[in-house]
Amino acid sequence: MKSDIRVCADWETAHDRPVYTLGDACPECGAAAVNSAPAPFNPEDPHGKYRRRARRRNRDGGANAAGE
Ligand SMILES: [Zn+2]
Repeated sequence: MKSDIRVCADWETAHDRPVYTLGDACPECGAAAVNSAPAPFNPEDPHGKYRRRARRRNRDGGANAAGE
């Protein structure tokens, strides 16, 4: 499901909490608003590999269990 809700790209530094908007810019600070979908791949995310593994397992229906 695709969402049109965007979040202030600078909210981490400009606000105490994410500022959401349907427009292209943050209504509070004027910074660009970006899609609020999950953050892009972060190689430093300690849980990322587990999440990705689970996602692939779900997609492959377990057929790839012997992989890796
Ligand atoms: Zn903002």
